[in-house]
Amino acid sequence: MTGAATLPPAVPLLESLAVPAERRRAVATPRRWGLRAGDVVFIVLGNAVLIVVMWVRHGQLPNLQSATAMLSAAGQLTALLGTYAALVQVVLMSRSPWLDQLFGVDRIAGWHRWLGFATVWLIAGHVVFSTAGYAAGDGRSFLAETWTFLTTYPYMLMAYAGFAAFVVIAAVSVRAARRRLTHETWHFIHLYVYLAIALSFGHQIAVGTDFERDPVAIGYWVALYVAAALLVLAFRVAIPVNMALKHDLKIHSLFEETPGVLSIYITGDCLEELPAHAGQFFKFRFLARGMWWRVHPFSLSAAPNGTFLRITVKEVGDFTGALHTLHPGTRVLVEGPYGIFTSERRTRPRTLLVAGGIGITPLRALLEELPARKGGTVLIYRARSWPDVVFRQELDQLAADRGVVVHYVVGRRGVEVARSPLAPQALRTAVPDVRERDVFICGPAEMIADVTATMTALGVPPAQVHRERFALL
Ligand SMILES: Cc1cc2nc3c(=O)[nH]c(=O)nc-3n(C[C@H](O)[C@H](O)[C@H](O)COP(=O)(O)OP(=O)(O)OC[C@H]3O[C@@H](n4cnc5c(N)ncnc54)[C@H](O)[C@@H]3O)c2cc1C
Repeated sequence: MTGAATLPPAVPLLESLAVPAERRRAVATPRRWGLRAGDVVFIVLGNAVLIVVMWVRHGQLPNLQSATAMLSAAGQLTALLGTYAALVQVVLMSRSPWLDQLFGVDRIAGWHRWLGFATVWLIAGHVVFSTAGYAAGDGRSFLAETWTFLTTYPYMLMAYAGFAAFVVIAAVSVRAARRRLTHETWHFIHLYVYLAIALSFGHQIAVGTDFERDPVAIGYWVALYVAAALLVLAFRVAIPVNMALKHDLKIHSLFEETPGVLSIYITGDCLEELPAHAGQFFKFRFLARGMWWRVHPFSLSAAPNGTFLRITVKEVGDFTGALHTLHPGTRVLVEGPYGIFTSERRTRPRTLLVAGGIGITPLRALLEELPARKGGTVLIYRARSWPDVVFRQELDQLAADRGVVVHYVVGRRGVEVARSPLAPQALRTAVPDVRERDVFICGPAEMIADVTATMTALGVPPAQVHRERFALL
């Protein structure tokens, strides 16, 4: 049981700069989950191969002698692989800290986007190929065959409804459409994928050629659905519920760091057992009126210390703008920790941190976890104006206590600061040994791209460059 007593209400962290060393508890490190990245890739690709083998085993290959047979075969294969891809998709986006640690949020989000569109194309291919194949075989038009499917085949209406849901989800994920929707609307529509998968199940077993008279194939197919459902339930429900019961997180206090930037201190039970590193983020749900149904990601802005969690949030929209209405005592549910923007990723003893605006938050936490050695860590903090500089006193204190070199790059481009303050020349002057350092970058997307390009120009190996984007898929 941890006490909230170490933090008086609504104080900046500066007064105690986290928890005094003698009161700091060893915090559990994120779990290791047995399977390695290669094992997961092997399982996913292995099952795809197994599905094709299952299709071949059902004697489909020798039948490919006519255009009709080929259309039907294409319809069967696209159905099997499209459904499998949809199951992989839901596991990929099950908010699993385990997958996140193996592959990183960005890579998973990229796969999800790619596989999402592939899934819809495969299922659309199934609808078109199967209908065309049967229409050719029965001597009917495409539309007439569709009508026959809908009116005479079992579970077919549900399958078409599921297909429609997949098409809607793909449509709202196209970037142009995505930009017009709020995150919540887009996410809500995305949840229909579960319905779509469930709706299509009945017709697969009832009319799928591969499941006729083959109980082994049916067993295997059902096992795939059950495995996906169990993983989603574990990561989306069981683990968050277990965390909520175990840690009983509540807001301890709120503190306005600078105008429009709020720190929220959260305390709870057994926080030393909450396995997190500085640089990671959680998804937060505040159980307050009008907010409980929304989940938003925020990085820890202080290293986990066994006594409290701190996040620091810039007001950019309706959710972040409403956070100041929260009160101490409000219950908090978290999912995570997520992210591989941690000191564990370092390959070199020295580090350069580059922050832009509110992107300082995970870097501020990392400063506590990186080794304290004079000049070992350099922080470059880019902000538009001095009032936008968050944690000024904390950073200066960390600089004094832990030998961190802090460069503030503050002001408008081309006016108070150089036109390209993070260009290769400027960075090499500020940090001459940059090639010998790991570089952690967090800030607006444009700044991340600029600094990444600078690192390439300066010859910093890509493996030494670590980025955190404040935007998820
Ligand atoms: C890994 C990560 C860590 C982050 N850490 C911090 C932090 O430490 N401090 C901080 O101030 N901000 C952080 N953010 C950004 C923060 O999550 C968004 O600013 C916030 O969710 C915006 O919500 P809103 O309703 O106020 O604004 P909106 O106007 O609704 O959204 C502004 C933008 O934020 C993004 N966004 C909105 N809702 C979500 C959501 N539920 N999930 C993901 N992205 C969303 C969208 O790209 C949107 O365009 C982080 C984001 C990510 C992905």
